[in-house]
Formats: sequence, C-alpha cells, structure tokens
Amino acid sequence: MSVMEMSHRGSEFREIAQAAEARLRELMAIPDDYAVLFLQGGAMGQFAAVPMNLIGADGTADYVLTGHWAKRAYAEASRLASGVRIAEAAEGPPFTAIPPRAGWELRPDAGYVHITLNETIDGLAFPDVPDTGDVPLVADVSSIILGQPIDVRKFGVLYAGAQKNIGPAGLTVVIVRGDLLGRARPGTPAVWDWAEMAKSGSRLNTPPTFGWYLAGLVFDWLADQGGVASIAVVNRRKAAKLYAAIDNSALFSNSVEPEFRSRMNVPFTLASPGLDGEFLTGAKTDGLLNLKGHQAIGGMRASIYNAMPESGVDALIDYMAEFEAAHG
Ligand code: PMP
Repeated sequence: MSVMEMSHRGSEFREIAQAAEARLRELMAIPDDYAVLFLQGGAMGQFAAVPMNLIGADGTADYVLTGHWAKRAYAEASRLASGVRIAEAAEGPPFTAIPPRAGWELRPDAGYVHITLNETIDGLAFPDVPDTGDVPLVADVSSIILGQPIDVRKFGVLYAGAQKNIGPAGLTVVIVRGDLLGRARPGTPAVWDWAEMAKSGSRLNTPPTFGWYLAGLVFDWLADQGGVASIAVVNRRKAAKLYAAIDNSALFSNSVEPEFRSRMNVPFTLASPGLDGEFLTGAKTDGLLNLKGHQAIGGMRASIYNAMPESGVDALIDYMAEFEAAHG
C-alpha cells in the first residue's frame, strides 16, 4: 500500500507522521513546549492565520517590511485586523539592507512582531534575530528553514511553506510556542486555528499525507548529511563563492549590502538587460535552469537551497565566467 492510499487516521500513517515530526524536532532542536503543525495553504495561508490566531479582532501587531514577502504578509494581515501597523519599512526595490532594530517603532503591548527572516525574491536576510522583548516574534522562514541553524526559543512562531528546503509544495510547517495556542479570534475556521490543529495532531481533516511522508524522507536525508549545522557550512560556502564571482565581475552585480545577503537566494543583474535572454538560453543549454529572477524585480536569481549541490554552484560560476569572457 502506498502512503497515498493510507488513511490519515490509521496507525501506519500515524507512525510516518510522528517520525517526521520527531526528526524535525531533532534537526531544529525544537523545545518540547512548542507545537509543530503540518498544515495546508502555504506560507500565504499563514499570512492570514497569524493575525487570526494571535491578535483577535481588535488586537495589534507590528510588521517590519524588508522586501516583497514581508510586504505581502503585512497586506494580508491588514485585511483581517485594523491594529496592524508598519514598525519599519526598508526602501526598495531594490532592497539593499535590513533597517537597524534601534529605529523600529515597536509597541510594547502589540500581540506580535512579524519579520521575514529571508526575503526569497530580494535576496536579503536578517544576519541575527532581533530582540523584541516580551512581544512574541513571528517569522516567515519559508526560504531559510533548515538551511542554517535557527534558535527556535527566540521566536513565538515560525512558519514555512515546504517547497524550498522541506519537500513538495502543498505542505506548510508551523512551529508555535505552547502559550500562544488558544488565542484565536472568534470565527476562525477550525483548519486555520493552530490550537485545533495541535490538538488533533494536524489531522483534524486530511493533511497532505504524501507531502508529509516525503518531508520525513528529506529530514532523514538532512540528518544523514550531519544535520542543519553541517549543511549550513556548505550553504555558506556555496553563497560565498557565488557572491565573490559576482563582485569580481564587471558584467554581473548584486546590490545587497554584504552583511544582509541571503545564503539561499542570490539575485543578480547583468550590466545590460539586453543580454538577459542570451544569458538564460546559454544557461539552459548547460543544464542551468530556473535562473530568471522573479517577475516582481526582474534580472536573475540563483536559488541555492539545500538540494543544490556545491557542484551546481560551481557550474553556474564557470558559465558566468565564460559568458562574461564572450560579452564583457
Ligand atoms: N513567504 C516567502 C518568504 C516565500 O518565499 C514564499 C514563496 N516563495 C511565500 C511566502 C509564499 O508561499 P506560498 O506560495 O507557500 O504561499
């Protein structure tokens, strides 16, 4: 019987589900007082679930806008609650730096502060976790989860769509501190209510069982690689050599200040956008795919998630050098 055929309530699937959760807890050193939920609806679903679960109908929340996804998270929360405010907004696009914590206008009585730990489109990341005191910090970690160690204790909630470092699209992981459960505003649909989902082991309704199973296999693979700390070393090396190649080139450039550069998503532009098409066609011929930047900002983007081997980054760097030699 395939996992696809199993009942989500049966003992066979329960074992698969629990093993995956246990492995994720081990990989991220998730403390016991945090619930780990395996949900549907993607990270954007959580853009809505976060305010529904944490601030009720008339509570407040502060958002730090650092790029495309933080802005989208703020826009969605604003649709659901009137007390949602911008604590700080970086300038962009292009976004080149995370504004320093000292300048953020945080309200001490806010229900939470929201950040996007890694901006997938803009290629920006928080170099460290900002201190928000007693106000729970909520972070979208879609494009950085499992790519580097994250100190879960510093957050009230972490959430991530699975499709980058976890497994297939259709699964969303939410890690929430126990004391933040049970605050959902009246009228919150049960499948969006973290407390309901925690109580049912994320099986209030049928979860994406096959995606959950595959996520468990990816967690096992990552454990075999030595875990998050080990893959973080590889990720740092991959990113460092790609940024070095860009910085040492006259044709390619990246405008993010080095301190804030993402290790997972490396956007870059060509000196002449007229060369973009030729660059992409040549890349494809070399087996280098998906380099076109997000339509929101254009240019190129190399997403070098855990699944991208270092040899893939080396191949890209070689191709870029060849292309520059021919066109520089
Ligand atoms: N947040 C971030 C940081 C993302 O990278 C993405 C998707 N690329 C999203 C949110 C939206 O996620 P989803 O498509 O899973 O809703």
